[in-house]
Amino acid sequence: MKIIKGQKRIRNKAMKLTNKQREELRNKYNGRCAYCGCELPEVFHADHIIPIRRNSGGTCENPQADIFENLNPSCPSCNKMKHTLSIEGFRTMTNPKYNIGQSVYHVTTESDKGVVLDCIYSLRKNQWEYLVTFRANEQSLIYYEEELSENKIYE
Ligand SMILES: [Zn+2]
Repeated sequence: MKIIKGQKRIRNKAMKLTNKQREELRNKYNGRCAYCGCELPEVFHADHIIPIRRNSGGTCENPQADIFENLNPSCPSCNKMKHTLSIEGFRTMTNPKYNIGQSVYHVTTESDKGVVLDCIYSLRKNQWEYLVTFRANEQSLIYYEEELSENKIYE
């Protein structure tokens, strides 16, 4: 029986970068954060483009994504914000569909036009929540994106 020397067993510890790899990663976007484009600080993060989802104890759920090619240089705040989201998820998260001050309808047959007072990204639900007021002196309510529309929709 042939024994293959040095055959890799599947790693479940998150990868550690060499100094050379860190420098290479820093220069991937000319020393800038891959997400917001700011100049990378002295200490920057190696962000997994496809999340590896770390468990406590140093293991991860997605070890095959823990490769150098799957890393992007990221400033600490973007890395923290991106959390375990995919790139698409992160893009959605940084781009609310409706902005503060925008007029929207609540998706019902008899809806008044309201104004978005605030939008908050819910990490727990992975979607935007909009605080909308429909009439002055009335309580504002929180809606999800699919509950709002720019056009009046009669169902
Ligand atoms: Zn950034």
